[in-house]
Amino acid sequence: MKEVKPPKKPLIFYYFIVMLVMMLLNSFLFPRLLKPQVESVDYGTFLDMVEEKQVKMVQIEGEYIYFVDKQETPAYYRTTTFDDPELVERLRQSECTFGRVVQEEMSPILSFIISWILPIVIFVALGQWLSSRLMKKMGGGLPSMQFGKSNAKIYVESTTGIKFSDVAGEDEAKEVLTEIVDFLHNSQKYQEIGASMPKGALLVGPPGTGKTLLAKAVAGEANVPFFSISGSEFVEMFVGMGAAKVRDLFKQANEKAPCIVFIDEIDTIGKKRDNGGMGGNDEREQTLNQLLTEMDGFDGSKGVVILAATNRPESLDPALLRPGRFDRRVPVELPDLAGREAILKVHAKKVKLGDDIDFNAIARAASGASGAELANMVNEAALRAVREGRQYVTQADLEESIEVVIAGYQKKNKVLSDKEKLIVSYHEIGHALVAALQTHSAPVTKITIIPRTSGALGYTMQVEEGERNLMSKEEIENKIATFTGGRVAEKIIFKSVTTGASNDIEQATKLARAMITRYGMSEEFGMVALETVTNQYLGGDASLACSEDTAKEIDRKVIETVKRQYEKAEKLLTENKEKLHELAKYLYEKETITGEEFMKILNEEQLDEN
Ligand code: ADP
Ligand code: MG
Ligand code: ZN
Repeated sequence: MKEVKPPKKPLIFYYFIVMLVMMLLNSFLFPRLLKPQVESVDYGTFLDMVEEKQVKMVQIEGEYIYFVDKQETPAYYRTTTFDDPELVERLRQSECTFGRVVQEEMSPILSFIISWILPIVIFVALGQWLSSRLMKKMGGGLPSMQFGKSNAKIYVESTTGIKFSDVAGEDEAKEVLTEIVDFLHNSQKYQEIGASMPKGALLVGPPGTGKTLLAKAVAGEANVPFFSISGSEFVEMFVGMGAAKVRDLFKQANEKAPCIVFIDEIDTIGKKRDNGGMGGNDEREQTLNQLLTEMDGFDGSKGVVILAATNRPESLDPALLRPGRFDRRVPVELPDLAGREAILKVHAKKVKLGDDIDFNAIARAASGASGAELANMVNEAALRAVREGRQYVTQADLEESIEVVIAGYQKKNKVLSDKEKLIVSYHEIGHALVAALQTHSAPVTKITIIPRTSGALGYTMQVEEGERNLMSKEEIENKIATFTGGRVAEKIIFKSVTTGASNDIEQATKLARAMITRYGMSEEFGMVALETVTNQYLGGDASLACSEDTAKEIDRKVIETVKRQYEKAEKLLTENKEKLHELAKYLYEKETITGEEFMKILNEEQLDEN
């Protein structure tokens, strides 16, 4: 959405301009206007001019004679008097008059006005102009009358330029929203059959999945005014202002109906109200109450549709979600394989592509990425192409950009010592080898030991063959084993361990814990939920929902699970120590190897042995 913002210049800039203007006026314009330039000439010239009847008027002032000639734009002269008794006679003969040629002193009133009143007038006028501009920027005229005016921006069709076709995947969400757009276009159709549209729809989903984008697309598709405001804009310094803003927003919306009101990040104002506390949330509560009142108050058939977006639906006040308010809940989830491919294609339209692009492969490698991340990947790929002086983006650019977005930039200047590099090589091959040796594990596509800005020293990219929605217990266990593989390899080869496995440890623990507390995959507890997920869309934090004793038991089980997988990995790698050596050496030399190279070496060995 395009907003026209006035350029921000410091106030001092304007004062500087005023000063400059004043100085110019003073030194150039005023003197010319008020005091004509006077040219000094000698007495002889004066007499010649009188003789030639060029002088129009003369003034004798003390020891000076001022005179003016007869040209259309008269020029002024000055000369010194001489003891010349015939002068008057001569002047008479040449038909010139006597009078005031120059005003020695400006009239005191005029000079006062010019030097004092005028600057003040200019200053005051300028000040007023400036402050009126400032007020406009803050959304109103006089401050006292405009408190709480909402600065919801009005967007109409032409300004967003985003259509549903710009939003890839998210078909269910698009369907619901298309219906709303249709309702706004032909409300007749709906009224005839007696259907009333939902008053509001709430877009929920993790960050970066295109909620804001979808709302903009609705604005682009619907030929109706579109009010967009972010929840945080309601949060004001003064109590009551947020509520006033809500009131104003709905007043404007009612005037412009049919129209769409979009409240982004509604959780900022829509949080659950709690009766405890110290009453410190008065302002937010008032704002929310006002919002609820307004939503009840307006007539749904008039064609005001309220959209809102949030990534914390669980924290919203239940009152907001009841029928008649945001009764439609539109999930905007992370894209699936097909969705990711579609999103990549949408964004790839903006860049020049080489002919080796395989979107499906990229989409598979970027499992779990949000739309925003995918958009970022395409851009990173384009940037990399430019850096390398190419005119188009290649598959390698896209592959690299996945790693950039997931693992950070390659840190070329961070030099690992040879020993460190060797350890990292073994560590990464440890992961890959354990993954490959377990039949259920996903094949490895790429291994690298080039350090990343994120702090990762190496990186093993695993790609699932297709989309995974279900995972069996064995698959999870194998995954845990793969996570431990790095550390195991270090232990086997170097007989000591490093800090390099911290992320692996975290991931393995998370999986093992989830197996027990959420997936019911342990014999002891069976299908009992021991944890509840609190923040579904933001990291999926879970909180324990069990007794202290059980918690202890869970911890013991988690440790046991990870340990068992560690032992399995240890066994696998010890049995295949030769391959571990060979592959690690290969990686150490090449720094980045592909999955095919990896598999080739792995299989060669096997053939030789058998
Ligand atoms: P959210 O509001 O859900 O956090 P946004 O709508 O702000 O996410 O998305 C951020 C950016 O990510 C968008 O501007 C767009 O470039 C890209 N994006 C996200 N989802 C999609 C999608 N489904 N299709 C195309 N682009 C997407
Ligand atoms: Mg958003
Ligand atoms: Zn690791």
